[in-house]
Amino acid sequence: MKLFDLTGRTAIVTGGGRGIGKSISLALAEAGANVVVASRTETELKQVCEEIETTYGRKAYYRTLDIRDQQSIQNLVDYAIQEEGKIDILVNGAGTNVRGRLEDYDEADWDFVMDVNLKSVYLMSKAVIPHMKKRKYGKIINIASLTSVLGFVNMPAYAASKGGVSQLTKVMAVELADDGILTNAIGPGYFKTEMTKSVFEDEERVKWMLSRIPLKRIGNLEDLKGTAVFLASSASDYITGQTIYVDGGWLIS
Ligand code: NAP
Repeated sequence: MKLFDLTGRTAIVTGGGRGIGKSISLALAEAGANVVVASRTETELKQVCEEIETTYGRKAYYRTLDIRDQQSIQNLVDYAIQEEGKIDILVNGAGTNVRGRLEDYDEADWDFVMDVNLKSVYLMSKAVIPHMKKRKYGKIINIASLTSVLGFVNMPAYAASKGGVSQLTKVMAVELADDGILTNAIGPGYFKTEMTKSVFEDEERVKWMLSRIPLKRIGNLEDLKGTAVFLASSASDYITGQTIYVDGGWLIS
């Protein structure tokens, strides 16, 4: 048995246009999967699809959507089923952040962050699960964060949403176990992406990060690929409900 082989598998990756979602999309394709990527930015999605097809020779599709919109989510899932006939892997990767201290935090920003980061996991999973149930097979990977367990300043909604993602991962794992659907999460440390650009421009903050990381380096997007393929493949068939932190050791130090 090829433990990490995803040949013949079909994956949907939300937030697959750039950053962490893109890296995971490329990793799944490299391991053999066909991939449907989704976000709001068509140019980025197209580019990822081209890269998947030319570099890895897998089929790649995209749909633009706002992950807060249930009908668009349903259209995405219908499209994946129409093209591939099944969904084996779902990566709930779309995410956002609006920074600010709780006492000044705008209610609309709170709702926005919670909807994009947490409610989207519920809506996407709810739309995909019936298709996985039919085949008694599925691997769902949510994207959590160090803030699923740590409190960082200026992140009230983000941390609350990511704590929710880890917790929802556990509920999904127990509810779906009998249907052969395994749900886990990846908790990345700090990775340089569009979302964290401003953080990396702050030298003091980067110094502080490095002081927290036993492996003494900031992670690069390649570092997330192995865990994504592991959780999407049969190599992880006895693991469900976990959040696996890819953080250079930050959390245990
Ligand atoms: P990023 O480069 O900004 O990527 C975010 C992705 O989510 C983009 O593809 C974005 O596409 C999509 N997205 C955002 N809002 C959306 C919406 N309303 N509808 C549909 N798609 C939406 O940031 P990233 O760092 O790679 O983040 C990816 C995931 O990793 C997020 O869940 C984030 O919370 C998590 N994470 C990141 C870090 C880090 O250090 N970077 C650490 C822990 C966890 P559009 O804007 O084009 O829609």
